[in-house]
Amino acid sequence: MEQVINKKCRICNSNDLYKAVLLNDMPFTDEFVTEARIDKEYLANIEIGICAQCGIAQNLNDTNMDNYYNDYEYSVGGSKFANSFMDTLAKKTKQQFFKNCDYTPSVLEIGSGSGEQLMMFKKYGFSVIGVEPSEYLTNYANSNDITTIHDFFYAGMLDKIKEKYFNIDCVVSSYTFDHIPYINETFDAIKSILKPDGKLIIEVHDLDLIIQRKEYCLFEHEHYIYLNKATAKYLFEKNGFEIITYDLLDEKEKRGNSLLIIAQKKSNSAIETIPYPKQEVENIKDLNFNIQTTINKIDTWLEKNKDKKLVAYGAGGRGVMTIAALKNYKNFKYVVDQNPKGENIFLPKTHLLVEKPKKLASDNADLILVFSYGYYEEIVESLSIYGYTREQFVSLLEFV
Ligand SMILES: [Zn+2]
Repeated sequence: MEQVINKKCRICNSNDLYKAVLLNDMPFTDEFVTEARIDKEYLANIEIGICAQCGIAQNLNDTNMDNYYNDYEYSVGGSKFANSFMDTLAKKTKQQFFKNCDYTPSVLEIGSGSGEQLMMFKKYGFSVIGVEPSEYLTNYANSNDITTIHDFFYAGMLDKIKEKYFNIDCVVSSYTFDHIPYINETFDAIKSILKPDGKLIIEVHDLDLIIQRKEYCLFEHEHYIYLNKATAKYLFEKNGFEIITYDLLDEKEKRGNSLLIIAQKKSNSAIETIPYPKQEVENIKDLNFNIQTTINKIDTWLEKNKDKKLVAYGAGGRGVMTIAALKNYKNFKYVVDQNPKGENIFLPKTHLLVEKPKKLASDNADLILVFSYGYYEEIVESLSIYGYTREQFVSLLEFV
């Protein structure tokens, strides 16, 4: 791996960084464009490095995300599984840590979105407050009686939190923690508002699962660090926390690729873990090669079948990012998605039109590459009513 010059580790400040993954000219996962916005979307290289001192995988570049998050309107709300996850998380937090509490425990959520997770905590008897950078989602949450502050969470905004919210019992953050560029400072801010025995609940993507399941689409501009159990332990202890458990929820209750960390402030006697950076470097070493091999295989398939009408299925993160990394993406006629995030929208960078599945009824495709392979059988089944047969489908899994 090539050493990175002039950059320091986000966590331990060493300059012992190596470039592990390079993806050229990549968009944001969610920045679908209308015709008028074509070519105005953000594109930059995604470069993932690994620190040979502390072993933490990290984004080598900083991206100014302020406007992106301020305008963010997408929310996980609506998905049955997401709702049940949020319910279970609040319920088990209550049972495990606040069961015999003789006062109303408080929860602060960092990146609270439209307030759905906090609503669950409220349901189980917590008082709640959210901090959310999207103006739209903040207004939405406040209109639903979930007190939410419109801002990023950092030391400088803590005076916006009223005194009654100091001494928080529980700080929660779901899929937001890895979006914070300089995480050590965030830990300091959390420490200053969390009770001595308060709980810190963090959900991030698990790098080990990303590698194991080859979910490379999770390498995004908006993700700054990539943790697994070993590096999370080091990061939390370095910042004065000890991890109590990764297993508050059962495997089947967790979301895909989820690493759920429950921690509290470290007691003075707690022993610091020494990281094993060599192991982490080994884990990530072959990654770039694997990603490039997968992309080349899909490109070869697209070239081989270029005289046929090819359609992609699935405009989620996996579809958007994989297609953006392909050379021959133009050989797809368009992308189909069950729930497009708008009408007449195009994928960022590749500008493939996003259509609903019924487009395939009137417009006969020859071959359909399914990116949302978790729904492969459902998709094959649902398109059979338009006369499609199994031989016309290819799963992304065949290339990875
Ligand atoms: Zn480091």
